[in-house]
Amino acid sequence: MTTQLDHTHDPGRRSWVGSANAPDTDFPLQNLPLGVGPSAAGGHSTLLVAIGDEVLDAGAAARAGLLVGVAGELAATTGGPDRLNPVLAAAADDRAALRHALAALLERGSRAEEPVRTAPGMLRPAAEVPLELPTRIGSYTDFYAGIHHARAVSKILVPGGDVGANYRWVPIAYQSRASTVRTGGAPVRRPAGQLKRPDADPVFAPCEKLDFELELGFYVGPPTELGWPVPIGRAADHIAGYCLLNDWSARDIQGWEMAPLGPFLSKSFATTVSPWVVTPDALAPFRVPVMTREPGDPAPLPYLSDADDQAAGGIAIALTVWIRTAAMRAASQNPVQLLSSDARHLYWTPAQMLAHHTSGGCDLQSGDLLGSGTISGPRPEQLGSLIELCDDGRRPATLLNGEGRSFLADGDEIIFTGRCAREGFVPIGFGACSGIIVETEG
Ligand code: CA
Repeated sequence: MTTQLDHTHDPGRRSWVGSANAPDTDFPLQNLPLGVGPSAAGGHSTLLVAIGDEVLDAGAAARAGLLVGVAGELAATTGGPDRLNPVLAAAADDRAALRHALAALLERGSRAEEPVRTAPGMLRPAAEVPLELPTRIGSYTDFYAGIHHARAVSKILVPGGDVGANYRWVPIAYQSRASTVRTGGAPVRRPAGQLKRPDADPVFAPCEKLDFELELGFYVGPPTELGWPVPIGRAADHIAGYCLLNDWSARDIQGWEMAPLGPFLSKSFATTVSPWVVTPDALAPFRVPVMTREPGDPAPLPYLSDADDQAAGGIAIALTVWIRTAAMRAASQNPVQLLSSDARHLYWTPAQMLAHHTSGGCDLQSGDLLGSGTISGPRPEQLGSLIELCDDGRRPATLLNGEGRSFLADGDEIIFTGRCAREGFVPIGFGACSGIIVETEG
């Protein structure tokens, strides 16, 4: 199930794109994440590939004969209203063929360097390319697989509280909204909703407890069939890409509305994903065992248990949350680090989440988005939301510039980054997942 290592992971390989060889780049030759954005020729949306500080127009490369065979077909048919869905839906071998062809095209010594460099717009500075939502998302499901976050929030809401009796048996999730997923720094409008203050009737007012949730997102690859559960041993075959995901949350609206069916308007107003889709192949060196269950925790039921998935179904991704307030922007200050965590601290693997999702017969379509749930870690400083950092507003945090925060203020920009590093391999990253809070409409 787990993608194998091959020559594309060789740390000795370098790109003819100089910035791709910098040690701190997110996008070395070994990554090759996929995205969607306007082609330099004509502006129609096309398959893009991040390489260092540049972006390759893979659709244009295919039309120029620089990507041939399956890779050329995939690159030429991607974009438009279907975005990356055709690539994600392709068989794993075909997606691997695309990766191999891109690696060969961009590797130092490639005969493609001169034609790519001389074709207008085939290689553009990343700063000049507006990235679009990477997939056509038919449906979006948000899990709750970060047990450290789930336990911390349970304690905040009920002193001494813990996750429900079902948590260690069931990968908990809810159906979320696909229509409000955005990317590329798009503004997030503060929602208004029903706020219920103690000893008073609810009022309809702008959210006062606006938060972010640090999550890993993943995209469905080859679709599954209605009525046919995917066996856990094959579940990873249906995941074709990963991203960073911010599940913006209105804590005050959520607290009042969520009984008994779960969050609704408090989560559906906006979700932000990072624009680059990192492939399972690129992440192969960074797989880790699923997080260790505590003594006394039940073993996963057989339909969620697979030896390979237990051994290598987790992913080590160092995650960082940055904030840049309006005051910091006005003073031309860079974002400052607010929190950090790691994707290895998920209680359930992406494959377990996908297998569970289909276990009742629900089918998943290529390009569908699944979120992991907020990822906090076992250490007190490893957090994925403000409600944890600030104890639901009771313990405000002080930013490096002296500003205080319990929840997000208008003008705050929240940026997630993710990096994978392992001895003997070239580190890779996810790029930024960013959004900026704007005031309530009206
Ligand atoms: Ca969430």
